Amino acid sequence: MDSRIPGFHRLTPAGRIAEVERRLAMPGGSLAAAFGLGSDVASLAARSEDVVAGLVLPLSIAPNFRVDGLDVLVPMATEEPSVVAAAANGARLLRHGDGISTTVGLPVMTGQVLVEGVSRPAEAGVAVEAAFPALRAAVAGAHPALAAAGGGLVRVRAAPSGSDLLVSLDVDVRDAMGANVVNDACERLAPAIEAASGGRALVRILTNACPGRLATASGRVPLALLDADAGHARELARRVDAISRFAERDADRAVTHNKGVCNGIDAVLLATGQDTRAAAAAAHAHASRDGTYRPLSSWRVEGDGLAGTLVVPLAVGTVGGAIESRPACLAALAVMGIRESRYSSRLAAVVAAAGLASNLAALLALAGEGIQAGHMRLHSRTLAMALGASPDEADDVAARLATEGGRVDRGRVERTLDALRRGKPA
Ligand code: NAD
Repeated sequence: MDSRIPGFHRLTPAGRIAEVERRLAMPGGSLAAAFGLGSDVASLAARSEDVVAGLVLPLSIAPNFRVDGLDVLVPMATEEPSVVAAAANGARLLRHGDGISTTVGLPVMTGQVLVEGVSRPAEAGVAVEAAFPALRAAVAGAHPALAAAGGGLVRVRAAPSGSDLLVSLDVDVRDAMGANVVNDACERLAPAIEAASGGRALVRILTNACPGRLATASGRVPLALLDADAGHARELARRVDAISRFAERDADRAVTHNKGVCNGIDAVLLATGQDTRAAAAAAHAHASRDGTYRPLSSWRVEGDGLAGTLVVPLAVGTVGGAIESRPACLAALAVMGIRESRYSSRLAAVVAAAGLASNLAALLALAGEGIQAGHMRLHSRTLAMALGASPDEADDVAARLATEGGRVDRGRVERTLDALRRGKPA
């Protein structure tokens, strides 16, 4: 098979699929049928390159969340069956009192302009920093809506980097994620920075690290909610506490601990049209900020409760990027009551809350019956649906397999569904 396809980008989605089928010697129409060319493919094609179809993910709305004293329904998009149930369960446990409390840092993103060939870096740095008023005015002129919202260039910092001069441009991006705004500022301001420093710009791009944009989410579960038996509840909470401490000293465990956090975070980011790659890069940079990979959250038994706190950088936006052109993402923001206010800090708060709730549910499962039981119930339900079961039949299959225990695979689900339909014990 030759993967060099001149002019592939000029074909229509249907034309591209036909070309791929031909090259792979697949029966004509087979790939098109599998990918499903929906009516929205033309608009999808306009939003990316070499598009052949759309990829549909389940979009759920997780109930039970109370964040900073306000109830909120949380849209989540994910292909993993247990993620939404876990988040909703964690949120239910955390909704007492004010529920999950958050703090969100200022939405400042930093652009990096690395200047080479600067003969006197100390003087050059002073000259660049002194140009701040003109640099700020240039950004405001290019982004009047950002300026009107109170954002813009807030600081210029210059410091040596090896033999070069690193100029850091701190931009308050208000309700935007900010990557384009900051990249534009870097490129727009580079000539003035070159003139002030006498050097030549090598790098002109934002850093996705955004240590000022940290969101924290904290919550507490009364032990009485964990189990009717007070002794069992305390033991379960003790085990969560101990597992959290293990993650704090073991990087391998911390990776999976953080995966449980990201289950919730990524699903809300996807549902609201955020840049998940930028969020992941920033989160993991934060997790390893002292040179060792650490958990993003920690849990402790405190008195008669289990208390947890999550800290994660979140560069999220309610304006800009691709959000405005995606009605489903706008609707997801509207469900959270965020659309009208364009309040990106509320979005960051809810995203962090979803991370904390998912993390709690995962740790409780790990400390209790193990994570496989819940996963397998949902997995067998998904498999049954894929085999043509109705939702009720899928529930029955899942319940029967959960009672029996053991490994769930497609063959076993098929046999159970068959037995159920014929009214037999499996
Ligand atoms: P954007 O370019 O659409 O900028 C936001 C715009 O909204 C600005 O023009 C601003 O003036 C305007 N605006 C109106 N009201 C505002 C308000 N209240 N607050 C803030 N701005 C307001 O979007 P962006 O957020 O700068 O860039 C996000 C996009 O950049 C994402 O799609 C991301 O995937 C992409 N991107 C990311 C990277 C990266 O992370 N490394 C690199 C390149 C592009």
